[in-house]
Amino acid sequence: MTELHRNFIAGEWTAGTDVAKNINPSDLSDVVGEYARADRAQADAAIAAARAAFPAWSMSAVQDRANMLDTVGNAILARKDELGRLLSREEGKTLPEGIGEVARAGQIFKFFGGEALRLAGEKIASVRPGVDVEITREPIGVVGIITPWNFPIAIPAWKIAPALCYGNCVVFKPAELVPGSAWALADIIVKAGFPAGVFNLVMGKGSVVGEAMIADRRVDAISFTGSVATGRALAAKAVARMAKVQLEMGGKNPLVVLDDADLPTAVNCAVNGAFFSTGQRCTASSRLIVTAGIHDRFIAALGERLAKLKVGDALATGTDLGPVVDDSQLKQDLDYIGIGQREGATLAFGGQVLERPKKGHYLSPALLTGATNAMRSSREEIFGPVASVIRVKEYDEALAVANDTDFGLSAGIVTTSLKHASHFKRASQAGMIMVNLPTAGVDYHVPFGGRKGSSYGPREQGSYAREFFTVVKTAYTLP
Ligand code: ADP
Repeated sequence: MTELHRNFIAGEWTAGTDVAKNINPSDLSDVVGEYARADRAQADAAIAAARAAFPAWSMSAVQDRANMLDTVGNAILARKDELGRLLSREEGKTLPEGIGEVARAGQIFKFFGGEALRLAGEKIASVRPGVDVEITREPIGVVGIITPWNFPIAIPAWKIAPALCYGNCVVFKPAELVPGSAWALADIIVKAGFPAGVFNLVMGKGSVVGEAMIADRRVDAISFTGSVATGRALAAKAVARMAKVQLEMGGKNPLVVLDDADLPTAVNCAVNGAFFSTGQRCTASSRLIVTAGIHDRFIAALGERLAKLKVGDALATGTDLGPVVDDSQLKQDLDYIGIGQREGATLAFGGQVLERPKKGHYLSPALLTGATNAMRSSREEIFGPVASVIRVKEYDEALAVANDTDFGLSAGIVTTSLKHASHFKRASQAGMIMVNLPTAGVDYHVPFGGRKGSSYGPREQGSYAREFFTVVKTAYTLP
C-alpha cells in the first residue's frame, strides 16, 4: 500500500479529507506518492494553531531560532541528492537542476539561521532634548505562504526561513502539482523541533486552502508566488482586509544582444536563460532582442546549439531539458507557439511534441523569429521552452523594446561595451539586471524581485527579506 503523506497541523500529522496523486511528468505511469488534501476546516485549524503559538514564538530566544534554522539547512544539504531526485521526479527539471535547487534551499535556511542573530535596531537622538528614540523590528504574526510548482523547494524555503527567523508563525500551502518536495521540507522542519503551531503544512487546493488563508483575519500577512491572475485577485482580497501582501508573479524578461557581444556568451545566455528548467522560470528570457549586425549569426549559432539539446526523462543522465510539467502547461505552450505564428512570427526551430520511450509531456525548445514586441507571444508570459527573437536597429531601440512590457522582473544584456552595459543597468525598468549572464539564476543571499506587473511589496531573500517579515516599532523614552 502507498504511504499517505499527511498535513502537519497544530503539532500533529493529520490526514486530509481527500487524497491527491503526485504524477511524474517524465513518466505518466509513475505515481511519485499520495498526498493529503486539506479542507477548509483543516485550514482553519492550522491558522488557529499558528495564532495560538505566536505570542510565545514571537518572544523566543534568537539562539533557539538560529539553531533550528541551521539544523534544517544542514539536514536539507545532507540529503540533497535524494531530495533533488524527488524534486526532479515530480517537477521535471533535470537531476543536476533538482539537486542544485535543493542545495540552494539548504543554504537559504543556514543564511537565515545567521540572520536571526543579526536583527538590529537603531537608536536616534530625538529633536526633544533628553528623549531617546529607538527603532526596532518585531514579527508580523501569522504568515500565509502560497507557492507555485516551478521551484518546489527553493521558493518555500525563501519564504518559510525568513518568516520563522524573525519570529512569525507559518501556514504553508504548496502547489498541488509538487507536494513531494514540500512534504519532505516540512518533515525536516518538524524534526528540527519548532514548538507546536509555529509551522503548519496544509496541502490542498488553492481555491479551498488558499482562499481560507486570504480571507482569514487571523492571517496577518500573505507571501505568494504564482501566476499574475491569481496574484492580483489574491492581493485585492487580502489588501481589502488590510493584510500585508507580497507577490512574485510573472515575467517577460528581455535578453538584449548587441552587435559587439561575444557570440558564444550570447548563445550561452540565451540557451540557459530561455530553455533550461524547460523555460519554466519566472526569470526566463522569453524575448531575445537582437541588433541587426549580429542577428543572423546569433540565430544560426543558437539553432545549432538547440539542435544538440537532449530533451528527455528528467532523471536520465545527459538530459538537457526535462518535460513540461503537465498537460495544461503543454497545451498553453503549444497555443502560444500557434499564436506567435498566426501573428506573423516564424517557427524557426522546435516546438514539436516529442515521443519518448515513457509517456510524458515532452516538447522540443521552440524559437520564434521575426517577432515584434507587439505580438501577444511577446507580451504574455508563456512559461515554457519558447522564446521569440525581436530584431532591432541599435542599442536605443533595444532598450526601448526591453522596457516596453507590463512586467519587470529580470533583464539581461550581452555586450562588450562598458558604456552600454552601464547605461542598461541604470535605464532598465526591471528589478534584477544581468550583464553577460543569463536572466535566470540568482544568488540566494541577495534581494530577489521585480517591478511593474511582476512583483508587489518588499523584496524577498537576503537581509532585505526582513522588510516584509517584520514590522517597525518606534519607541520614545524620557528617562
Ligand atoms: P502556477 O500554476 O503557475 O503555480 P497559480 O497562481 O495557479 O500559478 O498557483 C500558485 C499557487 O497559488 C498555488 O499554490 C495554487 O494552489 C495557489 N492558488 C491558486 N488559486 C488560488 C486562490 N484562488 N486563492 C489562493 N491561492 C490560490
